[in-house]
Parts: sequence; structure tokens; C-alpha cells
Amino acid sequence: MKKMLVHVCCGPCGIYPLKTLEEQFNVTAFYFNPNIHPDEEYQKRLKAFQDYSDKYKIDYIVGDYNPDIYLEAVEEVAKEKDKRCPLCYELRLDYTAQEAKKRGFDAFTSTLLISPHQDIEMVKDLGDMIAGKYRLDFYDGRPEGDKKKFKGFRPGFTEGRKIAKQEKLYEQTYCGCLYSKRGL
Ligand code: SF4
Repeated sequence: MKKMLVHVCCGPCGIYPLKTLEEQFNVTAFYFNPNIHPDEEYQKRLKAFQDYSDKYKIDYIVGDYNPDIYLEAVEEVAKEKDKRCPLCYELRLDYTAQEAKKRGFDAFTSTLLISPHQDIEMVKDLGDMIAGKYRLDFYDGRPEGDKKKFKGFRPGFTEGRKIAKQEKLYEQTYCGCLYSKRGL
């Protein structure tokens, strides 16, 4: 079975992708989100992810939390969402791929592919590009050879949110960064 490192942006978004990926891969979740502001919010999201993973015995790794690397990555375009978000995706996907390479995984993916609030085509394009850079596979939600229209993990969004409510997981009210908190 291929080893898959799954970047997880938050607990609720992780539920459906992790559940479906576990049927096909040897899965480890990777919580790496230096974009989240402030620290208190980061801790709430991390706790939701850890509580869920512990309960359902999902292996996971928690990456470093260093908001400076996010702020440096986006500083020149911070108030322009259409330019800032791709840099935020790239930062998180690139670190995930580096971690995957270092630890001997075959492939990586991201739970960003489930959210209707994210540009999943952009996430996929960046994932494919980064996969080439590190000679890994990027999983876009479609089983190998499946030519169905690309939808990421979005078909499972409603199911994931329903389970998050049943589990009483913390659900955030903004994407993550300081700018999104301000509605930018
Ligand atoms: S709005 Fe979300 S995806 Fe965009 S930069 Fe902020 S945290 Fe990242």
C-alpha cells in the first residue's frame, strides 16, 4: 500500500478525506498551518484535529508553527486575496512535500481540496507542480486512472461537516490568516 502524507488544514476538513484515503493508502495526517492567526485560534484548530485523530486512531505529525514564514511569503501581496492565497497554498503544500520526501512517503495531498471556499483547481495545479519538484505523487481525490471530472474531495464536504457537528469539533468562522479575519 502506498504511503500518503495528508496536509490537514483543520479538523472538520480532515474528516472526509482521511476516511476515504484510509481505504486506499497507508495514511499519516500532517497539520501544518503557519497562516493561522492569532495563536489562540491556531491552538483551537489544532486541538480539534488532535482530538479527532486520537479518537479514531489516525497517525499524525504536527509541523512547526512559525507565522513569520507565512507573513514573509505573502507580505508583498497581503491585501490581494487572488495573489495571497496561491502563495499560502504553495507554502503549505511545499512543506508537506518536503516532509513527505524526508520521511519516505510516496505521495501527498491536502484537505484544502474539500473546501468550497478554496480554489481547488489552483491547489491541484500547485500540488502537481510541487510533486514534480520532489518526485512524489500528488493525489487529487480521484483514484488512479479515474478520468471523472476533477472535484477534489468536495463531494464529501457536507458529510464531513455533519460528522464535525456530531463530534462537537471546533469550527472556525474565517479562513485563517489575519487578512481573512478582517474580511480581506
Ligand atoms: S484567506 Fe485563507 S488561503 Fe488565503 S491567504 Fe488567508 S489563510 Fe491562506
